[in-house]
Amino acid sequence: MARILAVTNQKGGVGKTTTAVNLSACLAEYGQRVLLIDLDPQGNATTGCGVVKREAMPTVYQILIGRSTIDETRCGTDFGFDLLPANRELAGAEIELIELGQREYRLRDSLAGLRDDYDFILMDCPPALNLLTVNGLVAAATVMIPMQCEYYALEGLTDLVATLKKVRANLNPVLEIEGLLRTMFDPRSTLTQQVSRELEGHFGNKVYATIVPRNVRLAEAPSYGKPVIAFDRGSKGAQAYLALAREILERAGGQKIAAAGGARR
Ligand code: ATP
Ligand code: MG
Repeated sequence: MARILAVTNQKGGVGKTTTAVNLSACLAEYGQRVLLIDLDPQGNATTGCGVVKREAMPTVYQILIGRSTIDETRCGTDFGFDLLPANRELAGAEIELIELGQREYRLRDSLAGLRDDYDFILMDCPPALNLLTVNGLVAAATVMIPMQCEYYALEGLTDLVATLKKVRANLNPVLEIEGLLRTMFDPRSTLTQQVSRELEGHFGNKVYATIVPRNVRLAEAPSYGKPVIAFDRGSKGAQAYLALAREILERAGGQKIAAAGGARR
């Protein structure tokens, strides 16, 4: 049964897409069957996996409005995982969904037949608490929250936690926080250290031990249409996302995974 995970934070530019793409590639590297769903009209996750966005391509948009099936939409990537792509058209779904019944449940219902095809289904959510994100939160079992350790991050987190509570009360009672991921981490900053400690104090073991440092290779890789492990495997960014994948697998299975291990399927 696939673990369905929404990578979300309504704050922009905190590393959601970077995390969704690189974690997908790293989980695949450890032999996991992974589907990445691009739920953002910006389509950054789509380009980040080397899939060229075209106007006429079937995307998550068609799935949400019931005009296309998963099989017609899903494509492979060169990195061992599958993708449901997005393009700008998805921005229109927000309006069209309002007219449709069961509008918060449409993604969840479309994924129902897929749960045995994958070990992980990751969703890259847009930087907003809109109907696309709500579809992601209703389809998900858990949320992964990437965040930068800066002052406003904690305020944003309060809003996000309140939204998760509402979704749990009204739409998806099983939704849980999978973990909080510190991204673009700069250990030299005192404020970063402070916010990081506050986060650990508040959320305890929900905060991943793995920290993603600020690393220029992570920012460069998408312009080559590659996850960082396929671009510069030795970089600190690649090592961090490999470590995150291991941490997630070890948390689930209770077993240590060798750092170099995990042959590709
Ligand atoms: P949006 O809210 O717009 O969807 P996002 O939360 O998905 O943004 P990303 O697109 O992943 O954030 O990252 C924002 C920018 O920061 C991108 O240019 C990305 O390449 C860069 N970036 C992400 N993580 C790191 C990192 N650890 N080190 C350096 N640059 C990073
Ligand atoms: Mg993004």
